[in-house]
Amino acid sequence: MKAFYAEEQKRHDPKAFLSSGAQKPNPEKPERVERLLAGAEAAGCTIERPRDHGLGPVAAVHTPEYLDFLEHIFARWQRIEGASAEVIPNIHPIARGGSYPASAVGQAGYHMADTACPISGETWRSALWSAWSAVEAADAVMAGAPAAYALCRPPGHHAFADVAGGFCFINNSAVAAQTLRKQAARVAILDVDLHHGNGTQGVFYARPDVLTVSLHADPVRFYPFFWGHADERGEGPGLGYNLNLPLARKSGDAAFLEALDMAFQRIRAFAPEALVVALGLDAFEGDPFGGLTVTTPGFSRIGEAIAGCGLPTVIVQEGGYLCDELGDNLTAFLTGFSGGKKR
Ligand SMILES: [Zn+2]
Repeated sequence: MKAFYAEEQKRHDPKAFLSSGAQKPNPEKPERVERLLAGAEAAGCTIERPRDHGLGPVAAVHTPEYLDFLEHIFARWQRIEGASAEVIPNIHPIARGGSYPASAVGQAGYHMADTACPISGETWRSALWSAWSAVEAADAVMAGAPAAYALCRPPGHHAFADVAGGFCFINNSAVAAQTLRKQAARVAILDVDLHHGNGTQGVFYARPDVLTVSLHADPVRFYPFFWGHADERGEGPGLGYNLNLPLARKSGDAAFLEALDMAFQRIRAFAPEALVVALGLDAFEGDPFGGLTVTTPGFSRIGEAIAGCGLPTVIVQEGGYLCDELGDNLTAFLTGFSGGKKR
């Protein structure tokens, strides 16, 4: 399987992070890339550098207001006397229907959901190259490859059309799906990250052409808290085109695979022409987030089961944090996927 990654994606190196109010090192570290590259290579992937695809595929998913913010906010932030080294919001609108703030601080609060996505001077370019890896993987699949892997880092599935959040800036899975829409009338996104793919859900919530399905730890006491509940089904023309399958905390392989069968049932009924897998590996039992207890062989079975859909598939890296098995879990998923048979 072809895999896509650009060196620039490693430059974003966030420092700040608040978890339950406590300051901790940001877990979305550049070192994740080394582990994931090794994992992809061990699965037999050849790593290729994506092309520069310009703003087009990103602007197809995100608002121009937001993209302008992402590109320029760090330089503007630096001009504020006494400001932090990274852009971090400290005020948010209660509702977003009011006027658009002119100041850097106001816009940071408007466009950033939380403190987990600090912006430095490298963030914009890293996020762009991450998105271009997703575009390149989608292009490879449209050119006839049965599947391709995009080593997207920074990740994307918590980014809405105009809001960053949870380590995410540009929604790579949404960009891949929108790119696939050039050829495919209907595209399904299956998100298996530990956390609900709230940004992806938000991007397509009112659309019937992209089905969004997410398996994740129940958000009742877990990030992203406000989204990911079973009663969120889409709206307007998109009603019935979003499926959330929250799992009890500490659920393992059996519960995950059972929920996956429900996801497949919905995906089959949607009859998509292509699939995007938002591949978080943080459902792992040894992941620092500790929300679910999927095992390394479990990821292999998940990969095999997804291959059973028999759809052209773009696999987009989402979460999965530093632990000894991070690379092995990617290898297990990709190997399982490649060995899986169409059902
Ligand atoms: Zn996650």
